[in-house]
Amino acid sequence: MRKQMVAGNWKMNLGLAEAKTLATEVCQALREAGLPGGENGPQVVFFPPHPFLTTVVEAIGKTPGVSAGAQNCHQEKKGAFTGEVSAGMVRTCGGTHVLVGHSERRAYFGEDENLLAAKIRQVLDEGLTPVYCCGEVLQERDGGRHFEVIASQLGNGLFWLDRDELARTVIAYEPVWAIGTGRTASPEQAQEVHAFIRQRIEASYGEDTARNMTILYGGSCNAGNARELFARPDVDGGLIGGASLKAGDFVQIIRSF
Ligand code: PEP
Repeated sequence: MRKQMVAGNWKMNLGLAEAKTLATEVCQALREAGLPGGENGPQVVFFPPHPFLTTVVEAIGKTPGVSAGAQNCHQEKKGAFTGEVSAGMVRTCGGTHVLVGHSERRAYFGEDENLLAAKIRQVLDEGLTPVYCCGEVLQERDGGRHFEVIASQLGNGLFWLDRDELARTVIAYEPVWAIGTGRTASPEQAQEVHAFIRQRIEASYGEDTARNMTILYGGSCNAGNARELFARPDVDGGLIGGASLKAGDFVQIIRSF
């Protein structure tokens, strides 16, 4: 069955104590509200900076339906790659998910789909869930090329996986023009692209796989607009940046289904 999810990408923000407080407050609020926990509740994933992962995992404790992951990992299993973090390290720190292909990694670190595919391989090999980000820049949207761009990002980055591996993956549609800009895609724009992504999955992997894939929306999603976005049939939740840094806002987003 398709799972709903709300994930918080903390990026390069917060200190250790703040990260611990944020995770603790969100978990406490969710437990008090009886959320998410149940079979049908959304899964919640925090993406803290690497050095905070263990602390955040400890703060989550046994809160049902809540886990943590990494914002990035290296494409090799191990070795002389100073400063890098492997998927295996994320797993041994208690992480469950890894973001792959965030637009900031693509833009500032030159990550292309060959590299992203290698990272996905590592993440899956460690038994973790990749959250694969795709989305067009403003120029591509204005030029009416967004479907073409997304089809190519999916094809090169993801559609080499076998059916079982794809089924273990989460996709996040993040129009780059909406990330951190305060300019959200309208619910209709989000739905249109999510439906397109599901069609592409169906064309390559069949209807069953497409129906069960979790597809998140990301890009200036907040406590005020999450409900409308999550109400669309192909939007299964959100990847949240700025608004995931405030416990109250993040909890409200989680309660927006
Ligand atoms: C993101 O970085 O994945 C993101 C969606 O950021 P924001 O919510 O701040 O636009």
